[in-house]
Amino acid sequence: MGNRIVEGLSALTKTSEEIANDIYMLDFRVVNAFLIGEPNSNSGEWVLIDTGLENSGEFIKNEASKRFGEESRPKAIVLTHGHFDHVGSVKELAEYWDVPVYAHSLEIPYITGKKDYPVGDPAADEGLVAKMSPGFPHTRIDIGFRAVQLPEDGSIPGMPGWIWVHTPGHTEGHIALFRERDGMLIAGDALSNVKQESLWAVLTQKKKISGPPKYLTSDWRRAEESVCRLKDLDPCMILPSHGRPMKGDEAEKHLKYLAEHFNEIAKPAEQ
Ligand SMILES: [Zn+2]
Ligand SMILES: [Zn+2]
Repeated sequence: MGNRIVEGLSALTKTSEEIANDIYMLDFRVVNAFLIGEPNSNSGEWVLIDTGLENSGEFIKNEASKRFGEESRPKAIVLTHGHFDHVGSVKELAEYWDVPVYAHSLEIPYITGKKDYPVGDPAADEGLVAKMSPGFPHTRIDIGFRAVQLPEDGSIPGMPGWIWVHTPGHTEGHIALFRERDGMLIAGDALSNVKQESLWAVLTQKKKISGPPKYLTSDWRRAEESVCRLKDLDPCMILPSHGRPMKGDEAEKHLKYLAEHFNEIAKPAEQ
């Protein structure tokens, strides 16, 4: 992409954190990705959720080798949606591992060179990230034949026990991933736990329940419905793409508050 803003963000410190025995969070400071699967099981049954920014590929490969073994490769890559901070390294990694990339059918055109997202809206918020957002990449990428539609029955290849939930609004084909057994919710950008519009808040990862990143969200009515759908799942732990995990009472309280006060918390003033 060669975008200077993205290059700057890509250079931020990367860390990783075990959330559960089979959930590992890769934290690129501005966005998270997840490795799902039991470490060193030698089953090859693991999946990468989202791929961070461009230049995140090496870090992801190294973390995956450490966790699943040198020669290990995932069953698949799954995308919550196709925004640049989630697909930055998808082409490189899908080719390197030679694996399919699953996404919702409505998201496939954006990763197969057919459709562009709207440009970021700097008026959506006063924060610096919102002001920078028109400079973010919004045009299509093309991963060709590796892009595969998620199964219609809600299952996720390589992730037994998990389902995908269509949560449109932030993008048309946005999905969240949910495991009923322990109430784990990978929320993507359907909601955040940081004020993603503010660079200061992002760099310090100051916790704050928020809606989807404002500057890139296209349909606010659907975004609100999606938050309500996630609340109805009654998750025990929320893992957002932006911000820190929330669990237990905190997760329940914050999600309920966001769903009930969506207009004042999440929506840009002029919407
Ligand atoms: Zn997004
Ligand atoms: Zn995002």
